[in-house]
Amino acid sequence: MKKYIFTIISILLFISCETTSTKKEPPKRAPNSFAIVIHGGAGGIKRKYINKEQQKAYTQKLEEALNAGYTILENGGISLDAIQAAINIMEDSPLFNAGKGAVYNSEGNQEMDAAIMDGKTLNAGAVAGVNHIKNPILAARIVMDSSKHVLLSGKGAEIMAKKYGIEMVDSSYFFTEKRLNQLRKIQGKEEIQLDHTAFLIKNELIDDHKYGTVGAVAIDKNGNIAAGTSTGGMTNKKYGRIGDVPIIGAGTYANNLTCGISATGTGEYFIRTVAAHEVSSLMYYKNATAKEALHEVLFNQIGPLGGRGGMILIDKNGDVSWDFNSTGMFRGYKKSDGDSKIEIFEKTE
Ligand code: ASP
Repeated sequence: MKKYIFTIISILLFISCETTSTKKEPPKRAPNSFAIVIHGGAGGIKRKYINKEQQKAYTQKLEEALNAGYTILENGGISLDAIQAAINIMEDSPLFNAGKGAVYNSEGNQEMDAAIMDGKTLNAGAVAGVNHIKNPILAARIVMDSSKHVLLSGKGAEIMAKKYGIEMVDSSYFFTEKRLNQLRKIQGKEEIQLDHTAFLIKNELIDDHKYGTVGAVAIDKNGNIAAGTSTGGMTNKKYGRIGDVPIIGAGTYANNLTCGISATGTGEYFIRTVAAHEVSSLMYYKNATAKEALHEVLFNQIGPLGGRGGMILIDKNGDVSWDFNSTGMFRGYKKSDGDSKIEIFEKTE
């Protein structure tokens, strides 16, 4: 009798394992197809805050970044190089909160974080709290490619970047009047509750509509996925504060078995929910679609805690998704099948 029960249990276990493994299906991707998706930050982005001229400037810069990455992919380049090129362009633009134009901390300084991850090898590199590296994403790549570490902070990260010939600048390079004014509005105030979209001063809701972290995810012709993110963090953050961006699995994650993700929003909540990795895990273990996984993490996990923001994603099939629980998110994608889109405000689908 015992023998029969054991055999039946073994058969059931086998069937359940089989069912699970067929869920983790191989990619269904058109041969040689590729795609790139980018974001320029999420937040209280409403039409009334951004005039037509500014909309045009943002759209043009997003398009330039998308095209830079797309061209690399089209020419057979790898996804890591594509996202790096796209992020470089947004870091160099004062429109975004990364590189030039990064926001200021409570001491009036800029401290930047960046991360990059290779979905094929699960190698990753990140830098935190740097303010002399012109393009922090390049330094993150150096950490990934040329060190045994994943995350270097402050001076150590800068020494490494310099050693590998990354362009260094005086911290004044990152200055913009706009970001300094944002800081002046809230610096030194008590009872400040920072939010990506708005903050409270003495219980009065100030709509600060600050945004601008940048990120990119790409899949290349070989089906390899990469993700990267770069940011100045949040205005009036404490000196030494590190956000979700350089924390692998929180703001940045890539895994060829599931997807690549770059996040933007109130970083602390993305760290606490290990947001990007959570999305990937829901897809891997629960067979959730990208759309379902993004919704679950943004609306059922981050939202109820008080976090705001969004995520962009490319899955192993080369499909692009995004979602956000903030008012808007600068975003765009371009795929080898000719499909492309750039959007700023509320969701259209
Ligand atoms: N997630 C970034 C941080 O908390 C900020 C942002 O996305 O705007 O550092």
